[in-house]
Amino acid sequence: MDKKLNIFKIKLYALAILVLLNNSCTTILTTRERLNLSENKILITLDDGPSELQSVDNEILDILKQHNVKACFSLVTYKLKGNGEILKRIISEGHSIAFHSRNHELYLTKSLIQFESEKQEFEEVLYQEIGYRVKITLFRPPVGILTNSFKNKLTANGTKILYATHNPTDTFINKNSSPKYIENLINYFDKKKGGILVLHNGSELFPRPTEYDFIDVNSAANREWVPEALEIIITTLKNRGYQFVSIDELL
Ligand SMILES: [Zn+2]
Repeated sequence: MDKKLNIFKIKLYALAILVLLNNSCTTILTTRERLNLSENKILITLDDGPSELQSVDNEILDILKQHNVKACFSLVTYKLKGNGEILKRIISEGHSIAFHSRNHELYLTKSLIQFESEKQEFEEVLYQEIGYRVKITLFRPPVGILTNSFKNKLTANGTKILYATHNPTDTFINKNSSPKYIENLINYFDKKKGGILVLHNGSELFPRPTEYDFIDVNSAANREWVPEALEIIITTLKNRGYQFVSIDELL
């Protein structure tokens, strides 16, 4: 599986470079300064959830609650089903939700009408799971890539893009490689004086992981190391004087 993942990683970077060279595309990567996010402030975002393991999301929510940190969860439509309790917790505990596609597919050829209908479907499934309606205005494009023209259409339509200030490669990290990754991530945010941090509580690797990968602690699809990582990140950066903010500070 590791070999397969490495090949995929290389292919993904090659695709990203090709797409960007084409000049008609952009990424959601930006700097803290361009976001007007003041120094020493960090927004935590969690992608590709709800997690395949509900215990992962519950632990993450416990940690966020303990530290009084309001995060933003980028969720995929097909994963909402059966996760009503987690979704209710996310909302009732003051976190935000971003639409992150139906099936983690790219938005390179889709129309605004398609996007709107997919976002509506997301809101509908969310409603079925939690029993009340929530309007979603935030969007994090899968893999962080979208065309310039689509980005302009989204913005004109009132959709807010959820940016990131680092290239998140934690999807390729497993429990064994996580300590080094966390250390590098903390140092990066310290050097950049804050920003929007991305961690993945769910797995959308390609080829799609099997049930076995989700429970195998040596697989990058297993996200059980993420709650502890979050605890270390929040504690360390708080001790260094950083403040964790909600998305409201950026909108
Ligand atoms: Zn994603």
